[in-house]
Amino acid sequence: MAHRRTARSVEPLCWCGSGYAFKRCHQPFARSGPGAALFLAGHPFPWALRPMPTSPRRKPPEGVAGPEYVHTGVPDSRPVPAIRTEDEIARLRTACHHAAELLAFVAALVRPGITTDELDSAAYDECARRRVYPSTLNYHGYAKSICTSVNEVICHGIPDSRPLKEGDIVNVDVTVYADGAHGDCSATLCVGDVNPVARRLVLSTLGCLQAGIAAVRPGRPLSDIGRAIEGLATRLGYSVVRQFVGHGIGPRFQTGLQVPHHYNARERLLMQPGMVFTVEPMINAGTYGAALWGDGWTAVTADLARSAQFEHTVLVTASGAEVLTANDLAPTGRRLSEP
Ligand SMILES: [Zn+2]
Repeated sequence: MAHRRTARSVEPLCWCGSGYAFKRCHQPFARSGPGAALFLAGHPFPWALRPMPTSPRRKPPEGVAGPEYVHTGVPDSRPVPAIRTEDEIARLRTACHHAAELLAFVAALVRPGITTDELDSAAYDECARRRVYPSTLNYHGYAKSICTSVNEVICHGIPDSRPLKEGDIVNVDVTVYADGAHGDCSATLCVGDVNPVARRLVLSTLGCLQAGIAAVRPGRPLSDIGRAIEGLATRLGYSVVRQFVGHGIGPRFQTGLQVPHHYNARERLLMQPGMVFTVEPMINAGTYGAALWGDGWTAVTADLARSAQFEHTVLVTASGAEVLTANDLAPTGRRLSEP
């Protein structure tokens, strides 16, 4: 008589990436129909993230030239041209280089037990040491130097006192203001040993960033980027966040130019050499729907399934794209302009 395998060894993991068995996770909601998302947002999954206390806001680093909103919290929203000058591109290179190195610096600290507040504090100190300004600090009043988005947080997670746990995934998003320009990049990191369902989401999201950047080409519509990203994400069984998009960047943190990561045929603006913008797909294991926490920043998936993100600042060149924030955490194969 054959031995009956124990239930534990055959229970498939939930598609949401929590690492729990499907039966004990999203199965009860599989046939909830419309409205399930709303219901789930209020459902207390045992592992769902909760708002945690945060440390006090830090003052702008001393002796460091900051952007226009350092003291007011109100960024200049007047329209700016979409094409950057040679001088601005040189400044962007400096800022993006700092951003890429800051991201690598923070990523090296990620391990089980460290709080996201500690990561933020280390990022602030590193910015002060480099004499650059952490762009998110006081941007629309934001109180921290980086964003840390854990598990079901899509983006704009506020660093807090929750220690990272083995099996978490965390997106670290850094933006630096240096030499009169901003540089912006992020990567999703695995904390210790992460379950294979969530690991696949992270790797696939990096693939989506690479596909999006590979679609950057002068003379082509911006919608090519979203088409490439959404095409790949859909084939892999994931959804693409629509509420948050990439943005033009330069002397301003956000220039007004918007870069959707899903396909929108009406997005006909043509890419031109000298445009600089972020490509930062947020890819969800479940629905693309989002809910906002009461803090006004933290965006979580409506079904509490996991979400991952990678980001680069990209310059449109005469023949393609140049990744200005190139780093080993998010390799793209497009570090340099093609001749
Ligand atoms: Zn689940």
